[in-house]
Amino acid sequence: MVNASIITIGDELLIGQVIDTNSAWMAQELNKIGVWVKRRVAVGDVKEDIWNALEEESRHSQLILITGGLGPTADDITKPLLCNYFNAKPVINEDVLKHITHLFENIFRRPLTENNRKQAEVPNTCSVLFNKLGTAPGMWFEKQGKVFISLPGVPLEMKGIMKDIVLTKLRDHFSMAVISHRTLLTAGVGESILADHIKEWESGLPSHIKLAYLPNYGMVRLRLTSTGTDKTLLENEIQAQFERVKNLAAEWLVTDEDLTMPQVLSQLLKEKNKIVGTAESCTGGYIAHLLTREAGASDKYNGSIVSYSNLVKKDILKVSPETIASAGAVSEETVLQMVKGAIEVLKSDYAIATSGIMGPDGGSPQKPVGTVWIAVGNKNSMTAHKFQFRFDRIRNIELTANTALNMLRKFILSDNDKAI
Ligand code: ATP
Ligand code: MG
Repeated sequence: MVNASIITIGDELLIGQVIDTNSAWMAQELNKIGVWVKRRVAVGDVKEDIWNALEEESRHSQLILITGGLGPTADDITKPLLCNYFNAKPVINEDVLKHITHLFENIFRRPLTENNRKQAEVPNTCSVLFNKLGTAPGMWFEKQGKVFISLPGVPLEMKGIMKDIVLTKLRDHFSMAVISHRTLLTAGVGESILADHIKEWESGLPSHIKLAYLPNYGMVRLRLTSTGTDKTLLENEIQAQFERVKNLAAEWLVTDEDLTMPQVLSQLLKEKNKIVGTAESCTGGYIAHLLTREAGASDKYNGSIVSYSNLVKKDILKVSPETIASAGAVSEETVLQMVKGAIEVLKSDYAIATSGIMGPDGGSPQKPVGTVWIAVGNKNSMTAHKFQFRFDRIRNIELTANTALNMLRKFILSDNDKAI
């Protein structure tokens, strides 16, 4: 495998003002094409530190990727440094200048400053990686058999250049090994229990097939990656291992494709041609957000009642005041009535309802922080479960949302889902 280092540049990254999301995204994409990210380094906007990082990383890796430090306010650090490092002279790239001029005249409608014009300057020994989405171009250098790629820090622009140019160019440059992936999604099982359950199989995996655990709030994605030279052999082999792990994880399996929970649920709704609605108290519309975030995931979604207050639970969802007075807002009775109310008011076939105490305040000995009731159902049949989460507010909300989506998925697949 090709070894890579990622260097991120920016004082704001070091002090934690901006979170380095670029490295994680780049590492994931590189990994998919067979590049192993061996090291990640963050440095400030300091000439010496950037230089040293380049020296150090070129000792470890064949490929060095840099992001950041290319903005118009760069105080002229990164680009002159790259010129020095690669024995180059700065020259205006006419294509880039044309693009920047176009952006300023027609899109930003602002006069082009000298700083902006300077962004069209590139070291004459690099090949330019055109940045459709912004002003700072990416640059590709080669030195002593190593490849260096410098990209802007703006995540959208970095991703654009990676997807449009870099990933393909890397594949061509390094004769990459064949690489194959299989992904499955589980829900309702912790990472350690799952790991324990499949450990015998995992320890028997051949060394060129790697397993990654990608946990995410109540769900764990398992990704198998196989590297080799013979594509057919590789595909057959990874498929056989994938079938085995799928069987082992069958109890918690959500999908054997690279899909999200909302995507899986909407596929199911599409197959059944049924509509869902949500009644959200403690998740405050977060389930609605998950169901509408991805294109295509929202076709079978009617909407949500964010019934955060008891007033809305009673007035709109028709939860009975007696129920709220006797059992409380966080109770089985309440979430069941919320499902019923949502099906009616949202004119949907199914509904999901959540009510819980997310913290940090509001807990009691009977209902401590993290107590959550979730109900799902249709007009004939409903089911409710109590959960006891034990995290902070944000994690509790995420967990509740994913758990609720999975509950409806299971409900639809179960016998409870009588003909409606
Ligand atoms: P300069 O650093 O050249 O003065 P700049 O900071 O505007 O200018 P970049 O360093 O290319 O230009 O960064 C552009 C934007 O991208 C900044 O808002 C920065 O915080 C953000 N950014 C930079 N690096 C990362 C990263 N690794 N992950 C996420 N965002 C980043
Ligand atoms: Mg910067």
